[in-house]
Amino acid sequence: MAYLRAERDVIHGGIGLSEKKFNVVNLVELQLTENAISTRMSEIEQAKNSGELVSAEKELNMIDENFKRANEDYSALENKRKKLEDMVELQNEKIKANEKKLFSGTVTSSKELENYQNEIKILKQKNSGMEDEILEIMIEMDEKIDKVKQFKAERDRAESKVSLIKSEINERVEVLKNILEGLKKRKDSVTLRIPQDYLKKYGELKNKKGGIAVAVIRDNFCNVCNMEIPVSAAEEIVDMDSVYSCPLCGRMAITHRKEIDDIEKELEL
Ligand SMILES: [Zn+2]
Repeated sequence: MAYLRAERDVIHGGIGLSEKKFNVVNLVELQLTENAISTRMSEIEQAKNSGELVSAEKELNMIDENFKRANEDYSALENKRKKLEDMVELQNEKIKANEKKLFSGTVTSSKELENYQNEIKILKQKNSGMEDEILEIMIEMDEKIDKVKQFKAERDRAESKVSLIKSEINERVEVLKNILEGLKKRKDSVTLRIPQDYLKKYGELKNKKGGIAVAVIRDNFCNVCNMEIPVSAAEEIVDMDSVYSCPLCGRMAITHRKEIDDIEKELEL
């Protein structure tokens, strides 16, 4: 078993890889499995960074702000109303006390009588003004409570939208993680079927060549660099069981066979 003559003689000049028999498709399977792993991992990242979630959360925050503001406005009106009602009550008590004095028969001078009457009049006028104000506030509160209810309903809707998106994401991530776990097991098992020196070479090439160490040659084309292999090199690629080297991109290369399509299908690539 040769690590392609081209690889040994031309490119790396006589690196001796093991002659031990192994199914060269394992190298492709390792590569494809690793590709699938990184695809799934970026899908998980994508799912977690869902733009849909970001905009739904933004909308929820906005509505929540509106809701809080309307609620605060309502509470402020309610406080104002309570204060006014307390004042009215206090003044009513004063009026009652004055009236009591007025009709008790103890007030004898007309000046004093007039003073009491005036004070009662002023207090009643003040109260009537405050009662009008209270009415206005209550009308305003009625309008405000409608707004509060409206924003609350909107917030509830926005909240359930966010949690729906979140649960969809979690479900998707869960599925992807399960797939990923299966892929990692597959990678471990295929790794065990590849001789150490090929794994070493695989690792070196992967680091040097953008994460892709293995290419498949089909109809004299390399599926990674996408170039046509020169005739002289192509003529040497005759053994299905040998690992060759793409003379153009330098990656390990094996010839295409249906088995590879089947692996791709299994990995859903
Ligand atoms: Zn190539």
